[in-house]
Amino acid sequence: MHPPELVIRGRRVVTENTVGPASVHVTRGYISSISIFEDVPSGCDLVEAGDDSIVLPGLVDTHVHVNEPGRTDWEGFATATRAAAAGGVTTIVDMPLNSIPATTTLDGLKAKLEAASGKCSVDVAFWGGVVPGNRSELRKLWEAGVIGFKCFLVHSGVDEFPNVDEQDLRAAMPELARLGATLIVHAELPGPIETASPPAMTPFGPGTCPRAGSGQVRNPNESYATFLRSRPRAAENEAVELMIRLSRETGCSVHIVHHSSADALPMLREAKASGVAITAETCPHYLHFAEEEIADGATEFKCCPPIRERENREQLWDALRDGTIDMVVSDHSPCPPEMKCRETGNFMDAWGGISSLQLRLPVMWMEADARGFNINQLAEWLCRAPAALVGLDRRKGAIAVGCDADIVIWNPDREFRVSPPLIHHRHKLTPYTGEVLCGVVEKTFLRGQIVYDGGEFGSARGQVLLRGME
Ligand SMILES: [Zn+2]
Repeated sequence: MHPPELVIRGRRVVTENTVGPASVHVTRGYISSISIFEDVPSGCDLVEAGDDSIVLPGLVDTHVHVNEPGRTDWEGFATATRAAAAGGVTTIVDMPLNSIPATTTLDGLKAKLEAASGKCSVDVAFWGGVVPGNRSELRKLWEAGVIGFKCFLVHSGVDEFPNVDEQDLRAAMPELARLGATLIVHAELPGPIETASPPAMTPFGPGTCPRAGSGQVRNPNESYATFLRSRPRAAENEAVELMIRLSRETGCSVHIVHHSSADALPMLREAKASGVAITAETCPHYLHFAEEEIADGATEFKCCPPIRERENREQLWDALRDGTIDMVVSDHSPCPPEMKCRETGNFMDAWGGISSLQLRLPVMWMEADARGFNINQLAEWLCRAPAALVGLDRRKGAIAVGCDADIVIWNPDREFRVSPPLIHHRHKLTPYTGEVLCGVVEKTFLRGQIVYDGGEFGSARGQVLLRGME
């Protein structure tokens, strides 16, 4: 056996079921053994975590909109993966939409691979897309290495990625079941959204109403409550019900992305208990923010489905506690700041999407710690469960022998204030600006190589991860 070239050791190393002193031996980029703290073979490099710092598996984020090629001015592989490295994230999975072309054809995937080549600071895998009429592309995409497929049940926000309806799903899901591919679903149905469109919207076209000041009539579209009413829980509830039914009928594994409505949790709970192949994720913004605290005009909080009431948020935490929700990923979905319409504060015109790829670890740590969860539970939501969703759990998401040496050293007690100079996303606008968060990432390793070290980046060592290429 080759001797390790590197040992990373600390007093608080998070392995599968414990936290304790250990030395992690790294050989050719893999974790070759996990040994007692004192076991440091001579001749290898040693990186030592501070006594207060935690050694955690590199985070896996299966919900990232990179937008390159085609909308690289929104976000790109270089900036997104640097933000990831700075946030302790060592694997991201890119969403099949907002780039042009969308990843709905083999050619679309080839364009992605070319765009990502040589500029990534962390590893990147790819979702393919299911859109009306692309059934014949699904096998090709799967065989070329996408790790699963995404669809929308409601308008996606971009015209080149149209949503599917039940009939389209009945064509695609049996094919995905044959392939053994998971379908991830933006689960909002258009019906309840159309019914809920607030009448207050109609007199105010885009940008026609000045920002309310003293004595002026307030544009109702500047109110968060108006936006929240326009995306009712029923849209999510009915979509989840549909997906449970179709998963049951077709045998296709389904994963609900960015789940927000607490009303749908009993359905999910029951479906899982009865053996339906369904999982769910939620995002830090649904677990941290609450409708009651969002100021009028604060469009940086707009995302779909929306951030809901405080009481809804606490039910999402209960669902994490009992396993109804399996994981927490970012849904990093940036755009140029002008598309967020901060000037007018008009929620109905603003792009729906929150930037937070870099901030998932401290936000989740603070909220989880406040609710009595331990660090192993956090590692399950942020590392292992997302890796398992995309079939990468033999390589990613754990400090375990045989896994890639993707490791983050961070200090859970150190505070920092979120401010634009610290943010490495292409655009700095995020609803977390100004907040004091707890948990500073100190070093991030990808396959044993340092990719982030106290504000500095190593060279771009990220690889493209294609399914079956292990
Ligand atoms: Zn998304």
